[in-house]
Amino acid sequence: MVHAIYPGSFDPVTNGHLDIIRRAAKMFDCLTVVVAQNASKPSGCFTPTERAELLKRSTADIPNVSVDICTGLLADYARDNGIAVIIKGLRAVSDFEHEFQQALTNKKLNPELETFFISAEADYMFLSSSVVKQICLFGGDISEFVPSAVKEDIIRRIQNKD
Ligand code: ADP
Repeated sequence: MVHAIYPGSFDPVTNGHLDIIRRAAKMFDCLTVVVAQNASKPSGCFTPTERAELLKRSTADIPNVSVDICTGLLADYARDNGIAVIIKGLRAVSDFEHEFQQALTNKKLNPELETFFISAEADYMFLSSSVVKQICLFGGDISEFVPSAVKEDIIRRIQNKD
């Protein structure tokens, strides 16, 4: 049985993330989406627990997907949980350099770990959590960009209504 992890900030989850999750879930026996700490994005709009909650609701219909939070090194999380595959989404060449560096670092820390890259759907190439936050902050419609199950939560938080 091959268990893969899909790590990221997910602050908040977007339809671009969800597309990668659905495609990866078809290829692996089980997939854990991992809300990971990113030292270069220390504080976010949502807490790690809230991000995990939004991810759980967005993926509730995919039986082999679970959600977890990692507070330490991803390489250690993978080793501790017997996981050998990391999934990453690639939107553009600009993602590649950073993701490649991370993949090599993780392999150095845990030689058993392989990183698989899935290319973004053309429709979601431009989409990031920051784009969603920016559109939402100025009152734009985010319906096409985030899972419908969590849209209202995102609007409330970004527009400071909760
Ligand atoms: P961001 O804040 O830029 O959305 P995350 O850290 O949450 O980034 O992203 C987690 C993973 O998902 C990374 O591998 C990232 O490249 C990938 N990803 C993010 N947005 C998309 C998208 N629109 N399409 C495909 N992959 C994506």
